[in-house]
Amino acid sequence: MENDIIDMTNYLDENLDAMLDLYRNLVEIESPSSDRSRVEEVASYLDKYLGALGLENEIFHFDEAGPTLYSQTEGKRKLGDIAIIGHMDTVHPIGAFGENPFKVQNGKVSGPGVYDMKGGLVIAIFALKALMHVGYSKRRIKLIFSGDEEVAHLYSKGEGGRLFETLCKGSSACFNCESGNRNKIVLERKGGAIFSIKVHGKAAHAGKEPEKGASAIYQAARMIVEIESRSDKDRVLYNCGTIKGGSGANVIPSEAEFSVGIRYNTNKQYEEAEEFLKGLCNDTFVKGTSSEIERIGFYPSLEKSSKSQKLFEEYRKASLKILNEDVEAIKVGGCSDSAFSSLVGVPTLCSCGVYGSGAHTLDEEADVESLFTQCKILATTIYLLADEF
Ligand SMILES: [Zn+2]
Repeated sequence: MENDIIDMTNYLDENLDAMLDLYRNLVEIESPSSDRSRVEEVASYLDKYLGALGLENEIFHFDEAGPTLYSQTEGKRKLGDIAIIGHMDTVHPIGAFGENPFKVQNGKVSGPGVYDMKGGLVIAIFALKALMHVGYSKRRIKLIFSGDEEVAHLYSKGEGGRLFETLCKGSSACFNCESGNRNKIVLERKGGAIFSIKVHGKAAHAGKEPEKGASAIYQAARMIVEIESRSDKDRVLYNCGTIKGGSGANVIPSEAEFSVGIRYNTNKQYEEAEEFLKGLCNDTFVKGTSSEIERIGFYPSLEKSSKSQKLFEEYRKASLKILNEDVEAIKVGGCSDSAFSSLVGVPTLCSCGVYGSGAHTLDEEADVESLFTQCKILATTIYLLADEF
């Protein structure tokens, strides 16, 4: 057992250049969420790469979103599966980092998605390769990479998120190689959702026959006051972030539309918030109006469980063994795909990826050394994972 861990570590040390090559190739296929064909290109590159390792792959395509790539080692095993997840899209428009976007300098790598999260994809793949190198066969390993994470799976109409639920379900553990932080693992995240509310009223001349109209804007305004006054930073935050409606100052407006973004700590709080918003759409403050609500984006919250706490302890042990460094569990505000695996009961650790900074900005960079160390920790955690999982 100890020999295998030394063997995996040596294998990764011998493959630093191969890891950097894969990193460069993935970053150079620039893949903003909005460019479906470029995300497809990343998926087909990985399809070939993983296929050559003997993995079974499947690509789930969408009309408007980048695909989800699913890859697994063959055959069911005695113990439960391990899912390693991530996303292939970035936020950066093509060309934002100039002609040769991948640059390594003074131990840092810069480029579109180096931190969020193409470094994480390399970690996921090489952790798997290191395990295969020592003939690890205890558990089946699945890689699941989505293609529209940065837009909250809006382009796939939520399907990118639901696929994580379907493909992770029943697994023993899940590791999300999202952008990481030195000596920190994310065990809890807030959830977020976006709703669009449309209000229908009745148009009329505002001067001559106002009594024949029903103002959709007035109704929307009343609803917004109700929604905003419910915002509570310890429970659910509400933000009515966009609004449009009406056609002119002399016309009673027949249409209004606004969006509500919400953030919550628990999925129970989400349910309460959804119920409140739906109920509000049945309240008519302005006679003659009606309202409809649609959820257009959704992330469950990532909630800590006793199982995920135990999984964290396994990761911590591996970090102490490999780096001689302790790791702490943290809670953050931003959402990630970890929420979907956790929602179907799979203990999940988030932010197992490279260390770095400047995610979503032109200053995005990552620490090269962390590509290797985080990969070793992940491979070791999986290798040593207790049978009880
Ligand atoms: Zn990300």
